[in-house]
Amino acid sequence: MSRLAVIHADIVATMDDAATEIADGGVVWRDGAIVAVGSTADLAPLLDGIETIDARGCVVTPGLVNTHHHLYQSLTRAVPGCQDASLFGWLKTLYPIWARYTPDDVFAATQLGLAELALSGCTLSSDHLYLFPNGVRLEDTIAAAQGVGIRFHPTRGAMSVGESLGGLPPDSLVEAEPAILDDMVRVIDAFHDPADGAMVRVGVAPCSPFSVSRELMRDAAILARDKGVMMHTHLAEDADDVRYSLEKFGCRPGDYAESLGWTGPDVWHAHCVQLDTAEIALFARTRTGVAHCPCSNCRLGSGIAPVRAMLDAGVPLGLGVDGSASSDSGNLLAEARQAMLLQRVNGGAGALSAREALRMATRGGAQILGRHDCGQLAAGKRADLAIWPVDEIASSGSWDKLAALVLAPPPGPRDVFVEGRAVVRDGELARVSRQSVVAGAQAALARLMA
Ligand SMILES: [Zn+2]
Repeated sequence: MSRLAVIHADIVATMDDAATEIADGGVVWRDGAIVAVGSTADLAPLLDGIETIDARGCVVTPGLVNTHHHLYQSLTRAVPGCQDASLFGWLKTLYPIWARYTPDDVFAATQLGLAELALSGCTLSSDHLYLFPNGVRLEDTIAAAQGVGIRFHPTRGAMSVGESLGGLPPDSLVEAEPAILDDMVRVIDAFHDPADGAMVRVGVAPCSPFSVSRELMRDAAILARDKGVMMHTHLAEDADDVRYSLEKFGCRPGDYAESLGWTGPDVWHAHCVQLDTAEIALFARTRTGVAHCPCSNCRLGSGIAPVRAMLDAGVPLGLGVDGSASSDSGNLLAEARQAMLLQRVNGGAGALSAREALRMATRGGAQILGRHDCGQLAAGKRADLAIWPVDEIASSGSWDKLAALVLAPPPGPRDVFVEGRAVVRDGELARVSRQSVVAGAQAALARLMA
C-alpha cells in the first residue's frame, strides 16, 4: 500500500461542488484514491511516516481532462496544403495520408499525443479513432496510453459512407457496417472497465453524420446502451456541417441526433459550434455533453461556439484539444486559455472567467466522460492531480495564483499524478522517456512521408 501527500501548495483548487480553494493546502492519497484534502496544518496528523511532496510556489488542481482528440493525427501536424483549409477541404487533403497508417504509426502517434497531454497537466484523455487501415486496431492506442500512464477513454470510431455513396471519405477508408458493429462489441468486451478508478473505458463513436449512415448511428446507440458504454461523435462543427444536415436529412444536427437516440447523459458531442437556441435547450434538458475545442474551431475557421449560452442553459461542457491535424498543438491548458479568450471576442470581457475555463477543463470534462470519480480533489475521488509552478518567469507577479494558470500560464506542470502514480516529475515524463517518444514519432513520420 503506497501513501503519498502533497503539502504546502500556495492554493489547492478542489473543483468540488462549493469550488473550495485552500491556502497552504495539501492532498493525501493511498494507492489510487484520495484520503484527505485540507490545509497543511489540518492534514499534519495524517503525514507521519509517509512521503511528502513540497508544493510551495505551486497551485494544485485536479488533472485536466481532455474530452476530444484524434491521437493518430499527431503525425499530421502542419501539413502543407491544409494549413489554411476549412473542415471539408482539410479532410480531403489528409485522407490519403491517413490511409497509409500502420499499427506502428498509430502507436507512435498516440504515444506522442498522450505524452504532450501529460506534459500540459492532463490526466484523463478520450480518443476518437475512426479509421483502421492496414490492420490498425483500437488496442494500438491502449498500449500507448498504458506506457505513458494516463487514464484513457478510447472510442471505437467508424466511417461507412464513402465518396461513391455521397460521403466525404474515400471508399478505401470506410468499413462495412456489420464489421464495425462486431468490432465495437469486441473492444468493449476486451477492454472496457466500468469500475471506479478504471484506467481504460471504451466508447462507441461513429465519426460524424456525414461519414456514416443513419442506420449505423442508430445501431451504435442501441449497442452502447446495451453494453453500458458512452457515445461520442462530431456535431454541428461549422456551417457546412449544418447545411449538409439540412440537405441530406431535412433537419438540423440537434434534431438528427435526437431522432437517432444521440442525446442523453451518456452522449457527448464534439464542437457544437453551430447549435441554435432550441438545440442548446435540448442538450440542457437531456444532459447531453459538449466537448468544446476552441483552438481547432479557430484554426479551421469554424466559428465561436456558444459556450456562455450553453453554460447558462446548463449544458454539461468539457474541453478538448481536438486532433493535431486541426489544432496542431495538443496543450490542454492552452485550450482553457483559448476558451476564455474566444468567448470574450463576441461576448465582452465578462463572457468567461479564468475559473470557469479551469472548471470546464477539470470537473466539466470528467462529468461529460461519465467519470464522477475524477475531476475534483476530495476524499474518495481518484488521485489524479497536477502541480503547477506559479513562481517562475511566466507567472510571477500574479496576484491571483489560480486565475494565473489561465491568465499568465506556466509552460507546464511540475508534477502530474494519475491514480496516485507519477506520470510527470520535475517537468519530465516519468514512465516513458522523452527521447523514445520523439524517436518513435520521427521514425513513423519518415515512413509516412516516404
Ligand atoms: Zn474531431
